Amino acid sequence: MTSITIALSKGRIFDDTAPLLKAAGVVALDDPETSRKLILATNRDNVRLIIVRASDVPTYVQYGAADMGIAGKDVLLEHGGSGLYQPLDLHIARCRMMVAVRDDFDYESAVRRGARLRVATKYLHTAREHFAEKGMHVDLIKLYGSMELAPLVGLADAIVDLVSSGNTLKANHLKAVEEIMPISARLIVNQAALKLKRETIQPMLDAFSAAIGQCEETTAQP
Ligand code: ATP
Ligand code: MG
Repeated sequence: MTSITIALSKGRIFDDTAPLLKAAGVVALDDPETSRKLILATNRDNVRLIIVRASDVPTYVQYGAADMGIAGKDVLLEHGGSGLYQPLDLHIARCRMMVAVRDDFDYESAVRRGARLRVATKYLHTAREHFAEKGMHVDLIKLYGSMELAPLVGLADAIVDLVSSGNTLKANHLKAVEEIMPISARLIVNQAALKLKRETIQPMLDAFSAAIGQCEETTAQP
């Protein structure tokens, strides 16, 4: 039987993915949160997991170093998706890509005046497209994390970032002013692997889609 490698990231995505993997009959032999191993064996001889940075998942799958992986739509949009087949929205790690500003900043009027805003973000591609669609001129500043700080210290007028509860924004006296798009994690598959290893990959895809159905039914119960 052919072996497959699945690329995952720790943290949010793994927390939400473990139950789906389990439903697909795959259980890691070590806990990735506590283990220092980057390659994890599973209960299945022909399935292993590799643990990479969230934003590196599409790259491992694109080059075939992993056959499949789970990545946020935010990460996939920045990567561009080349060489990747994206068969499933897993409906996990859900949040929204938003524009946020200091809570004393009048974003609407800045937009109406056609002010040229400075926008700090990790998501350059998504931000560029969004403001171009609105016909706004912005200067984008690339950051790698803690975007919330930028408007507080005068680095930027606005940020483009992921928001789920809004608590981080609130704690930093920021407000969300525009939703760019809803975000969730996607299953991605290397296009060549899908053809060459279909006998192993297809049953996993089927199990994942059945598991998503099940999870939705369970959460729909009162
Ligand atoms: P790193 O921490 O390695 O720099 P990261 O910050 O992208 O990478 P996580 O914070 O674990 O890693 O986020 C991984 C994915 O989880 C994101 O790409 C996104 O799809 C999703 N995610 C991020 N923030 C949230 C959030 N606030 N709510 C729900 N899902 C989120
Ligand atoms: Mg993080």
